[in-house]
Amino acid sequence: MKKTIILTVLSVLLLSNCSSDDNNDITEAETQELTQDEINDLIFLREEEKLARDVYLHSFNTYNIAIFNNIAKSEQSHMDNVLAVMKKYNIPDSANAEIGVFNNQEIQTIYDNLIIQSDISLVEALIVGAIIEDLDINDIKDFINNTIKPDLLSVYDKLTCGSKNHIRSYTNQLYNNDIIYTPQYISIDYYNSILSETGGGCGN
Ligand code: MN
Ligand code: MN
Repeated sequence: MKKTIILTVLSVLLLSNCSSDDNNDITEAETQELTQDEINDLIFLREEEKLARDVYLHSFNTYNIAIFNNIAKSEQSHMDNVLAVMKKYNIPDSANAEIGVFNNQEIQTIYDNLIIQSDISLVEALIVGAIIEDLDINDIKDFINNTIKPDLLSVYDKLTCGSKNHIRSYTNQLYNNDIIYTPQYISIDYYNSILSETGGGCGN
């Protein structure tokens, strides 16, 4: 009987906690400290966007095809977007300044392997582009699940929007070369749904 009463009191307390309006919750979420997961995600993402930029710069130097240069520029702006939110929370920049050099060894290994593949042929370099965007969309999906902070979610949405445009571009170029890309990270259903969407601006 005592237990029942305590539980009732607890649930009344919990309910009253939930009654604060949504606007308050958003303001609180934005001014809160980041969780360790959120910090780790930003640190990783900053170099993951650099991975994309550096591989595409390499492919542009090798094949001189505009798509690599255009998308590399977009990746630079994604790197800038991540750095801006890191600065806001006083997280030091995690990216190595040198092109093709990474502080995260996992990303360094991915870069080294993707460069070897990109050097085989233009078609392989286009497949590598699709692989990077596939990986990026999948990782950011996990990062979205790790936060409720509107400023982080806004960056993640923008980067996902860009990655969807990029994977559509690489897919089209591959299609013109009679290659059908098979996603390695995201599901085939999600990939097909991305292909069926029309591309567009991703905001600033
Ligand atoms: Mn990107
Ligand atoms: Mn991209």
